[in-house]
This record gives sequence, C-alpha cells and structure tokens, in this order.
Amino acid sequence: MMKAEPKASFERRLALFGATGSIGRQALDVIERQGGCRVVLLSTGSHADELAELALRWRPEHVTLADENGYAKLRESLTGTGIRIDAGTDAAAEAAAEDDYDISVNGLVGVAGLMPSYHSLRRGIDLALANKESLVLAGDLLGRIAERNGVCIQPIDSEHSAILQCLQGEKIEEVARLILTASGGPFREWSVNRIKSATVAEALAHPTWKMGRKITIDSATLMNKGLEVIEAYHLFGVPPDKIDVRIHPVSIVHSMVEFVDGSFKAQLGTPDMHLPIQYALNFPTRQPYKLRQDDPVNWPALEFEEVDKDKYPCLGLAYRVLESGGTAPAALNGADEAAVERFLAGEVEFGDIYNLVKAALDEHSILAVDDMETVLEADYWAREFVKKLEL
Ligand code: MG
Repeated sequence: MMKAEPKASFERRLALFGATGSIGRQALDVIERQGGCRVVLLSTGSHADELAELALRWRPEHVTLADENGYAKLRESLTGTGIRIDAGTDAAAEAAAEDDYDISVNGLVGVAGLMPSYHSLRRGIDLALANKESLVLAGDLLGRIAERNGVCIQPIDSEHSAILQCLQGEKIEEVARLILTASGGPFREWSVNRIKSATVAEALAHPTWKMGRKITIDSATLMNKGLEVIEAYHLFGVPPDKIDVRIHPVSIVHSMVEFVDGSFKAQLGTPDMHLPIQYALNFPTRQPYKLRQDDPVNWPALEFEEVDKDKYPCLGLAYRVLESGGTAPAALNGADEAAVERFLAGEVEFGDIYNLVKAALDEHSILAVDDMETVLEADYWAREFVKKLEL
C-alpha cells in the first residue's frame, strides 16, 4: 500500500475564514509554528481593526469583511499594501468561490460559514472545518459533493478530531458506538430550576474551554453537543442510535469509540484547540508541537456521568431533528442562533432557549433537501420565527 504523502511538505495556499475568532487565531499560531502554508485569504465578520492588524502581519492577497461599515477603515489601514479588500455579506462566499487556494480553514461562526464550505468542496478543495453549522445544515449535501470530488473534510472540533484519531486503522463496521464527551458547562451541579433563570455572565463562564460567546452558551445548554452529534453522524456515517454523549467535567478525554468486541479507544490530553487544528492541517501525518508539555500525572481524576435530560433538554432536540431529517436540522440551527441572541440581549431567560427552539421545530414544515437554497430558507424561517415569538 502506498503511504500518504505528508501534506506539509510543499507550501499550500491557505484560505482562512473566521480569521479574527478563537479558531482563526489559533490556526494562525499553528501555521506560524510549523510553516508549510502561505495564507492567501483572511476573512472575517465585523472586526475590521483586528483584520487589518492580521493582514499587515500575514500579507495575504485578499481580505474580506462581512460588515460593510468597516470597509473604509480597513482600506485606510491597508493603503499601499496591494492587498485586495472586499466587504459585504457575500464577500467570504465569493472569495471561497473564486480565489486561488488549495486548503480552506473554516472557523466562521454560524450559518455564515455554510457557503464558504460549499464552494471549497464544490471546487474539490480540502476543508478543515470548525464551522459545525455547515454539516448541521447541509451535511448530506456537502457529504455527497465532497465524495464526488474526492476531497476530505477534516474536523476541527476536539471531539471529532478525537474520534477520527481513534478510528485510524479501524473499520467503521466494527464500531459499536461513538461516545462524545461533554464538560457539562457551568450548570452541571445546579438544580433544574436555578438553571432556567441563569444570567448571561453565569452562562458565559465555561469551566474548561475558552471559546466564542455563541458556542459557550450552546455548551451551557448542551445544544453544542447536540450539534456535534449531528456533525459526527455526517463525518463518520454512524447512525444516531450509535452516538452517545457522556458528561466528563474535566475535558481530558476528548471523545471515545467503543468497538464491537467491547474495547474502547479514547484520545486524551489537557484541553488545547491547537492540537485538533494541527491534526486537521497535517492529516494523516503528525507534526511535533514543541510548546506542549503535558503529563498524565497532572491530570485530574477522569469521571463520567450520564446526561441529565431534565437539565439539558436541548440535546434531545438534536436527536429529534436527525430522526426527522430534511430541513429539520437547519431549522434547529436557525432557531438556536436566534434564541441565543435573544438570551444574550437579555430578552429571554436561559431556560427559554429550549422553549423557543422547540416551538420553532413544532411549527416547522419539513422539506426534503436537494439544494443550498432550501436549507438556507429553513434556517431563515426558524430564525425569524424565534425572533418574533412572544413568550
Ligand atoms: Mg467541540
């Protein structure tokens, strides 16, 4: 059998979507440390100042900003650099569709990440994917496009990276189940009633991972884990009844696979997103990570708990939409994004995130998915429904 060539042995042209976010910045750390990539595109949502600072340092060929209000400032900051600047909600998708690059890292948050993923895969370009909404909204469609074009989707999510690592050298038919671990967020030891009226600050205080606001709230409701169940289903082709979630408060075991003979494999380490990013960029090889010093003697005891469904009702909604199929997962995503926004704006209580999403799913007419427009419309419908719903 031919050995896979290490991909970092030649300089790849890398497009980075979500450059100023948590994943984007850590991806740049990894790229800086290991070399092998030229960053040709930096794309972000609304942080014009931070994008300008990154552009001056990395000298890409092209930068895009979703928020047009930042265009003038960005142009002024980049005067004389020769870097092309585009702004507008479609700028990232257009760059993904037209620019010359051969690997894409998608760390955008939310539905904004969908079209960049689509264009990368449609053009046969490898995709390192942190934007879980891409697979949640359009996993079947994107999976078919990736397969047809012979491209890989490499997960940048600690759980899916762990599972991918556990599956190396194994047969998917010999998997009994995948076990995604969840820290349980800040409310694991709270009563069901207290959780319902938790404040924004309390919900944002994640015990083990430092992440963006949307994903931190989703971690507190466990909706994030629900989205990850959907993601795992699409990435690994394992049916939902063989995907379990266990609470593991210290986040040392990043996920596990149980095989048909009763053996378990897990991937472990002190939480650090640089590792899954680096694994995704170098798959199937590994590169040294010199800054890392980790030793099991420093780890806390590894404990696991079942998920309390009363504390975390959102997780059940994810299994429900997988069962329903079609546009149901897209509706879940749109409803959740809008519900989290309303919670962060102080309009609704923490417990209402579940109530709003469930109401949207109860009301949604599920359609079969044959194109991107259908999923985007379902996402949009659910978003508008949740925005307007009076509780
Ligand atoms: Mg994760």
